[in-house]
Amino acid sequence: MNVYDGQKMADLLKVHGYTITEYPEDADVAILNTCHIREKAEHKVFSDLGRLSTIKEKQKKINQDSDMIIVVGGCVGQAEGEEITRQAPEVDMVFGPQSYHRLPEMLAQIKQKSKGKRSKIVDTEFPTISKFDSLPVAYETPVSAFLSVQEGCDKFCHFCVVPYTRGAEYSRPANQIIEEAKHLIRLGAKEITLLGQNVNAYHGEGLNGKEWTLGRLIYALAELNGLKRIRYTTSHPLDMHNDLYEAHRDIEQLMPFLHLPIQSGSDRILDMMNRKHKISDYLKIIEKLRNARADIEFSSDFIVGYPGETDNDYQHTLELIKKVGYVQAYSFKYSPRPGTPASILEAQIPEDIKTNRLAQLQNLLNEQQLMFNKSKEGKTLEVLFDRQGKLQGQIVGKTAYMQSVTLDGDSSLFGNFLMIKIKHGYRNSLSGECV
Ligand code: SAH
Ligand code: SF4
Repeated sequence: MNVYDGQKMADLLKVHGYTITEYPEDADVAILNTCHIREKAEHKVFSDLGRLSTIKEKQKKINQDSDMIIVVGGCVGQAEGEEITRQAPEVDMVFGPQSYHRLPEMLAQIKQKSKGKRSKIVDTEFPTISKFDSLPVAYETPVSAFLSVQEGCDKFCHFCVVPYTRGAEYSRPANQIIEEAKHLIRLGAKEITLLGQNVNAYHGEGLNGKEWTLGRLIYALAELNGLKRIRYTTSHPLDMHNDLYEAHRDIEQLMPFLHLPIQSGSDRILDMMNRKHKISDYLKIIEKLRNARADIEFSSDFIVGYPGETDNDYQHTLELIKKVGYVQAYSFKYSPRPGTPASILEAQIPEDIKTNRLAQLQNLLNEQQLMFNKSKEGKTLEVLFDRQGKLQGQIVGKTAYMQSVTLDGDSSLFGNFLMIKIKHGYRNSLSGECV
């Protein structure tokens, strides 16, 4: 979602004559679009600010008149607000994820004031008018595009800052989403990933004026000519509605790969996390999805070392991973976040235990991922190529299961679906030949 928001900021500023530079040394404005989900992400913001401040000084040495504007946007901006300008005086502007549509206006304000002494702008409001109504259309798109359909969260899991930083759940009306999808397809998008913090909690106004679910929205998007692949992320087990299963059963373009986070394999921990469902519910969902679409595969998020997690709880998580068999996953050490209920629990788990649990869990997940990738050797898969590879003369694409595939070729193949016979399956990628 930060990638999507970042693109939208670029689109907004393009109208006002700004372009993106690859080199921070050349920038008149530097915007950090930040993440607050774990402590590590937050620390990164402050080290990046240090680096930008050095660049700004260097710019000044070369050109006395230069005065780079430094901006912190996104969820760290939302959570920390003015505190950021106290800790990092070089920051001129702070805003949250719901107010970035006002970016051009705020920049103009700062520039006007910069004739005298610059005053700071901090905007962490949750405006009553949706920012989506004021965002411009995209100027360009990657072949594989993101499209935000839902934002925010009302679930308040005890470890998570999202409800505080992104605000309450909001679903965009279907007509706005369909128009944006059409526009992206016209610009060359072949694949669209629908985004939301709880994307399947989507309940926007449908084309018929009634509330639509995510499943219903996907049926409508599947009608659009030229859209070859549809995905959605991140979904929550509590919001799996019947028409979403039906969409997986009926819609060829809906990819047979689902990121469905469970966090822990222990009912006791799920309860303490306020996840409001049990392991058995999750396993039933997986089974229903497999019945709807036999070739579907899963990924998940896991947190190890949640306060109070015993070795027995942790063993249950390993068992669940073995039972489901994931083709990919993200896993994290629990990170206490300010203002969340879990952060003040006494039973915090020592760092070394978290580290050991994470390493063992990641070994298991890595094994599963390698096994899945190896199982594709000798098979022919459809791959959408969209990126330059690390090596000269190499390009990279994605399979239906989000596996990266490398191929000898050049950028003229971007946007093409090619049939690739897989020669090697590695842990993080596949390689093969065009057939
Ligand atoms: N809405 C999604 C997840 C959004 S946050 C869901 O409920 O599944 C993305 C992931 O970050 C979470 O799934 C969780 O695994 C991780 N995460 C969130 N808060 C965290 C914390 N305090 N410590 C460690 N990991 C965290
Ligand atoms: Fe955070 Fe997801 Fe829980 Fe919402 S449902 S509070 S985004 S982990």
